[in-house]
Amino acid sequence: MNTRKGLITSLAILLALVLAAAVSWPLVDALRAPAAADKDISYSELRRRVDDGSVRRLTLYSGNDGAAQDAGGSLYHTLLPDAVGADLAREASARGVEVVFAPEEILPRRSSLPFTVALAAIGNIVVFSGLGVVLYRFAGVGAGSLSGLRKSTPGTAVSFAEVAGCEAEKAELMEIVDFLKDPERYTRLGGRVPSGVLLSGPPGTGKTLLARAVAGEAGVPFFHMAGSDFVEMFVGVGAARVRGAFAKARKKAPCILFIDEIDALGRARSSGGPGGHEERDQTLNQLLVEMDGFKPNGGVIVIAATNRPDILDKALTRPGRFSRHVVLPPPDLSGRRRILEVHGGRLRLDPDVDLTVLARGTPGFTGAELANLANEAAIIAARLRRPAVTMSDFDAARDRLLLGNERPALAMTEEDRRHTAIHEAGHAVVALHCPASDPIHKATILPRGHALGMVVRLPERDQPSLRRSRLEADLAVAMGGRAAELLVFGPAEVSTGASGDLRMANDLARRMVTEWGMGADSGLLWHGGAEQGASWSEATSRLLDREIQTLLDAGMNRACAILAEHRRQLEAVAAGLLENEVLSGTEIAKIASEAV
Ligand code: ADP
Ligand code: ZN
Repeated sequence: MNTRKGLITSLAILLALVLAAAVSWPLVDALRAPAAADKDISYSELRRRVDDGSVRRLTLYSGNDGAAQDAGGSLYHTLLPDAVGADLAREASARGVEVVFAPEEILPRRSSLPFTVALAAIGNIVVFSGLGVVLYRFAGVGAGSLSGLRKSTPGTAVSFAEVAGCEAEKAELMEIVDFLKDPERYTRLGGRVPSGVLLSGPPGTGKTLLARAVAGEAGVPFFHMAGSDFVEMFVGVGAARVRGAFAKARKKAPCILFIDEIDALGRARSSGGPGGHEERDQTLNQLLVEMDGFKPNGGVIVIAATNRPDILDKALTRPGRFSRHVVLPPPDLSGRRRILEVHGGRLRLDPDVDLTVLARGTPGFTGAELANLANEAAIIAARLRRPAVTMSDFDAARDRLLLGNERPALAMTEEDRRHTAIHEAGHAVVALHCPASDPIHKATILPRGHALGMVVRLPERDQPSLRRSRLEADLAVAMGGRAAELLVFGPAEVSTGASGDLRMANDLARRMVTEWGMGADSGLLWHGGAEQGASWSEATSRLLDREIQTLLDAGMNRACAILAEHRRQLEAVAAGLLENEVLSGTEIAKIASEAV
């Protein structure tokens, strides 16, 4: 049986080789290199060669590899920094270089096989497996064996040291690493086998990197799949793939099975209805079954990533499926500094580069954006033929990223930051002097979504009913931002930053007057609820508006009075925010008490 199989295999390979050689000869010929082929050159060297026109043809492989062929036919290989491909291609073709994009698989590598044969073999494996996939799919069979699973290539292991600025998150994942290192010892000591981990956070905050690092730290294989790989047209195909992926991973256990964009397949199931999403539901059900079906030491740890944890099916987020839920927010100041240390550490930096200053100038940047910044700076420095990357290269890179429309919302100037800091400090200081309102939990000038900054307050306890004194204090705190801007910058310079505050305060004041009988003149009339407006006379309506206005004015006046009296505290808290971006309630109280 075995020898027959072997014979068939060798025959197949032979046939395949002949076929592929014939089919891909022109390609092979074009890429063929003389004895000195596949010489490694540095990225800067490659750019120099592109610039001085000695490169005739440039092949960019998916992944980080590039190969350049010069007029003499010699082939050079270069490792490219992430995400420079498109840039490089544009410039090279502008200089008349022929640019070719190619999949990773046919990258020429130093090997003992003659280059062309290896290339032909690989080429035909690609061609034939592609053909196989098409046939399999066409026939609708074997879906289970085509799992959409990619195993990371060896030699690309990532360590925790490369994931910067998320120490707490790494600590949370240590349990998984310990388990993977020695599942048996772990269970013998009575440790509960961890199930999956759900990583959530905006794109580029290092979810994939962190999952890779867990595998790297534990020294186990890392399997990677994307939720969207499993969204299929035909009912049952996606589910079969999920089954196949898990079967494959189990064979290599202990290991990490990483599911990127799990929301693509883990979206809340459709609630019946005609037509519907039967396929997706089946796929999701299969995933749930696989995650439950782990034997105590099945040893496959699922790490899933999403930036929409809110839309995931409840069944997925229920305890038992993912034992940990780790949130990766965009990094704060010190996190950004550490990430810059990681990515800047790979460059030759001029002594004038101050990473703390850079971190300060990049609020809201994610890890991926910071990595990109370092790359861009290196490219700019290389173009200027500098011996090392300087601070001005980083500045230019940052401008390019910010003005390149990539993050227009973040093009925050120093002036904007100070405005935001004064505004947020205003809320914070007013809150400090209104003991009836909730204590401050933290204040930040990091942009989040539409807000440029915010002050978070936490109720000390659940309050079933709210007193008037408390509501009036809330109004004053809400006005604190605008009041501070008015006080520090004057009426002409107040900003749009208060719109959320105003809406909140207006809602509150309206309810105080129309629902809770807290107006001065409208007395105990109740005007709220569904009938709102229906039975109001025009006079009442005007009265109510005036009452609302009065409450808002009172809040504003109180805020202004507090801030005028404690101007020093306002400035000190704002300075603290500019310095640290985030301050806790205790830190704010401390700064304020020292500024009297
Ligand atoms: P996500 O999966 O959250 O979209 P990735 O893990 O793919 O983000 O991050 C993309 C790249 O950004 C990483 O390969 C790495 O170069 C960089 N990066 C992101 N976060 C960090 C971090 N905390 N430390 C160092 N580099 C980071
Ligand atoms: Zn505000």
